[in-house]
Amino acid sequence: MNNPSSSAALRVIESDICIVGDGAIAKTTALGLAQAGFSVTLLGPPPPPAPAAKGDPGWDARVYALNHTAHNLLSSLRVWDALDAARVAPVDAMIVHGDGAHAGGLAFDAYGAHTGTLAWILEDRNLGQALDAALKFAQNVKLVHGRATALLRDDASVTVHLDDGASIKSQLAVGADGAQSWVRGQCDIGLDYRSYAQRAVVSNFACEKPHHGAAYQWFTGAEGIVALLPLPGNQVSLVWSAPEALADTLRAESAAQIAARLAVYASEKLGALTPLQPELVRDFPLRLIRPHAMSAPRVALVGDAAHVVHPLAGHGMNLGFADVAQLIKTLSEREPQRGIGDDRVLARYERARKEDVLLMQLTTDGLARLFGADVEPLRVIRNFGLNLLDKLPVLKRRLISHAMGK
Ligand SMILES: Cc1cc2nc3c(=O)[nH]c(=O)nc-3n(C[C@H](O)[C@H](O)[C@H](O)COP(=O)(O)OP(=O)(O)OC[C@H]3O[C@@H](n4cnc5c(N)ncnc54)[C@H](O)[C@@H]3O)c2cc1C
Repeated sequence: MNNPSSSAALRVIESDICIVGDGAIAKTTALGLAQAGFSVTLLGPPPPPAPAAKGDPGWDARVYALNHTAHNLLSSLRVWDALDAARVAPVDAMIVHGDGAHAGGLAFDAYGAHTGTLAWILEDRNLGQALDAALKFAQNVKLVHGRATALLRDDASVTVHLDDGASIKSQLAVGADGAQSWVRGQCDIGLDYRSYAQRAVVSNFACEKPHHGAAYQWFTGAEGIVALLPLPGNQVSLVWSAPEALADTLRAESAAQIAARLAVYASEKLGALTPLQPELVRDFPLRLIRPHAMSAPRVALVGDAAHVVHPLAGHGMNLGFADVAQLIKTLSEREPQRGIGDDRVLARYERARKEDVLLMQLTTDGLARLFGADVEPLRVIRNFGLNLLDKLPVLKRRLISHAMGK
């Protein structure tokens, strides 16, 4: 009689594509590639113990501003319709403030950008639940949980070995396993890494005055970058990219104390802020990660595995969705004689994404450095730049269109 470990040792799961990861980008890649006709195995880490059932979990502290590229992709996969629409907030305007005595500013709205909505704010949990619901009905997707131990490639296939002895054999492996990507490491893809010496402190608040669908951002100089994103109703979500020392202070404070600090920026427009869940404050390290390649033989990288950028423009996830859309297109449009793990096909994917990714890396990194320095000459230049951009409608519209993913 076989014991469980020897039967696992014999188990070889075969599919066209193996996707490693279980975040939003991995799940979307699985849905998209399955819908394009490929058989897919989605390998997530061992499942965490089921959390004890509680009542209403409240608003998720992790929220994303998703652009039109993300919206189009999720709509085509029928994920957008599965979202809890009551928990999604459209962004109708963006208001950016500079710092110092001569603070510049930049404002734009959906009307000026000739669109119905600039972006949508939604919670990580809402997105995850909609993706899970769509995956339940997906043909051609096998969900596997396990710990990957090795990734071996030859001319015809790539095999991911798991610690229980099972393995997943496919023509192509996709690394959608986040900033610390295991897949990327297995392929010896080098990278440039720089810490911004900042952490993003996040929490949610009720606001006294209506936000009218506006996303606010303050480049404050010494205190980093404060963003308040609209949630449904009179509620906002904070992303405060704070220098390390201030981030330590904020994490030691209560959400009510953080709300009091925000008054200096927000009270004029939003009135008093009150924590929605006083205990819910989280923080994330901010860094620039630039892998030297987005592909390797029989491997493609998507999402944070392929690039990590500063969240000041709210674009990391959007870049990831654009990777997914491009990977589906490149694989689907390849010549019939080429396999999906063909070097030339993967090189096409990488070339197609290069410019967009580089532009976003340079823009977010440039802005983080320009607005991170608490030095007077730079303060004058950046405020002048914001005011100038605000007065150049053609350039402004182009930048907005690009940010919207149009
Ligand atoms: C504060 C903050 C605010 C942000 N706001 C925005 C925003 O407004 N808009 C936007 O577009 N982006 C935003 N981003 C960026 C966005 O969060 C990321 O770009 C996005 O979450 C990346 O998704 P991902 O699925 O690639 O990676 P992750 O979300 O990190 O998921 C990777 C997954 O892979 C799994 N995994 C890891 N290793 C393995 C392994 N060996 N085997 C199997 N599975 C594995 C992990 O469990 C994880 O679930 C923000 C980021 C921060 C920090």
